[in-house]
Amino acid sequence: MSSRKNRYPYQAALIFGVPGAGKGTQGDILTVVPGFYHLSSGVIFRKLDPQSPDGRIIREYSARGELVPDEVTVRVFLNWLEAQRAARRYQPSEELLLLDGIPRNVNQCEMLQKYIDVKLLLHFVCHDEEAMIERIRRRAALENRVDDADESVTRRRFEVYHRETQPVLDFYSEGVVREIDSMQRPAAVLRDCLKSLVPVIEDCYPVD
Ligand code: AMP
Repeated sequence: MSSRKNRYPYQAALIFGVPGAGKGTQGDILTVVPGFYHLSSGVIFRKLDPQSPDGRIIREYSARGELVPDEVTVRVFLNWLEAQRAARRYQPSEELLLLDGIPRNVNQCEMLQKYIDVKLLLHFVCHDEEAMIERIRRRAALENRVDDADESVTRRRFEVYHRETQPVLDFYSEGVVREIDSMQRPAAVLRDCLKSLVPVIEDCYPVD
């Protein structure tokens, strides 16, 4: 095993798209497949103690549908990632990091550049945002999320996505971006994700 690959930058694929596009569903499926390690910044944030100083800031911004300040986001994310690596739950020499929800603006891309090497960006394209808002409404009841319960907050998250997150697509080279139709059934989305992901893991982690 090459020790070099255990250090920064970690090889990564980004799962990217509007709220409700099914990124978490695909990440949850893929993370049980050997060779992938899924990490969602939103999930990390929801696991933090809401009474801790970081937890309080995160809850305040999330509840409004706004992005958490970059310094807090990147620090919490990197601490979490390193804890997973130290506990050997995430093994960079064998697993492609699948990031969902981060980086969320161009400044975060710059801050993370020395930590992650983006091999692929799966852009979950959605042509019907009202359908996504309906999905989110249904999810709110199941997951007890503060940011999903109120439709005006959901709409704010879409505005923030278009203004701050969409420019991330231009930060990475066109060659790493693949468009995935997120309106398909989950099995078809999974098939399309794997079509792009398998060559990346074959290339990054060749069998000896
Ligand atoms: P998500 O589950 O990815 O939709 O994230 C839920 C909320 O957590 C977002 O609306 C933001 O308030 C916050 N959040 C998650 N990831 C980030 C990030 N990379 N940068 C800033 N805020 C984030």
